[in-house]
Amino acid sequence: MRPPYEDVGKLGFGQYFTDFMFVMKYNEEKGWHDKKIKKYEPFAFDPAACMLHYSQEVFEGQKAYVSEDGRVLMFRPQDNARRMNRSAVRMCMPEIPEDIYMKALKDLIMHEKQWIPQAPMTSLYVRPTMIGVEPFLGVKPSREILFYIILSPVGPYYKNGFNPIGIYVEDVMVRSMPGGVGDIKAGGNYGASLLAGLEAKKKGFEQVMWLDAKEHKYVEEVGSMNVFFVYGDKLVTPPLDGSILPGITRDAVITMASDLGYEVEERPINIDEALRDAENGKLTEMFGTGTAVVISPVGLLFYKNKEYQINEKKVGKVTQRLYDALVDIQYGRAEDRYNWVYELGKM
Ligand SMILES: *Cc1c(COP(=O)(O)O)cnc(C)c1O
Repeated sequence: MRPPYEDVGKLGFGQYFTDFMFVMKYNEEKGWHDKKIKKYEPFAFDPAACMLHYSQEVFEGQKAYVSEDGRVLMFRPQDNARRMNRSAVRMCMPEIPEDIYMKALKDLIMHEKQWIPQAPMTSLYVRPTMIGVEPFLGVKPSREILFYIILSPVGPYYKNGFNPIGIYVEDVMVRSMPGGVGDIKAGGNYGASLLAGLEAKKKGFEQVMWLDAKEHKYVEEVGSMNVFFVYGDKLVTPPLDGSILPGITRDAVITMASDLGYEVEERPINIDEALRDAENGKLTEMFGTGTAVVISPVGLLFYKNKEYQINEKKVGKVTQRLYDALVDIQYGRAEDRYNWVYELGKM
């Protein structure tokens, strides 16, 4: 179905899919084989397929953009290829040679380029996915693997666009622990997070903030975003200690922020300290980062039945500056001094 390109609000996030997808299979005898771009349609799986029972699934999230001068662009796609491979190995699935991954992205996106929306805050969301499809019920890795890529024209992730969101700080359930799979993009992580997300929504908050599994004291991340706390000219974010996802947007923000003159500190953040700083105004801004949202301002934290406002629920100047700088690079409007932009071709 043709998405409502005229109405970005109706476009939403991940509701429409393009006509074609990329698919390839793997087994030990043949390696990666049967690569093809084919019509988007349902798969047929054996009801005993491994990923349906034991969640042998990993994925990626990327975006393609059209620049004002008609180039089709992606942001650091090789980093997603590498992360997909790290995720795959952790879940006993084969790596994809980077050239195969990049060619699949390029061939499919260029094939579907007329689907890329071009209004402000829109893009083509790209979802590479790898699953174990062999049918059996014993617990072991699947020997038959399917990799596919689907594409979705999207508007802003949150329906009110670039506006501060409210976050519920979860103090009972946890998302991840060191040694687990919280540092890879495994679908199972999201399955385990749904209940907390639903309860936060019921209470009127857009997202859940997770604390560490052991002490429920240190900030980890938010839904599908890494988090940054802003203290004047200083940015503080939790370190990559094995239980949070190493976000590519997080990495880009750290790099850019240093060059824009901000100090960046990666250290454990005690939730009580952060909330006290929100109350006494030392914490000047807060935002989340992720491919889907790019940068999302945070205006409110809710913890143990108490609300803590940040920057009077307004978009702060550091958040705005980093957002503008980043999307200008992503849409090809600013000089790409970090070599982050990858051109797939022309419209
Ligand atoms: C994908 C994801 C992020 C953000 O990573 P990006 O590479 O910036 O898109 C953060 N946290 C979780 C749990 C994720 O799955």
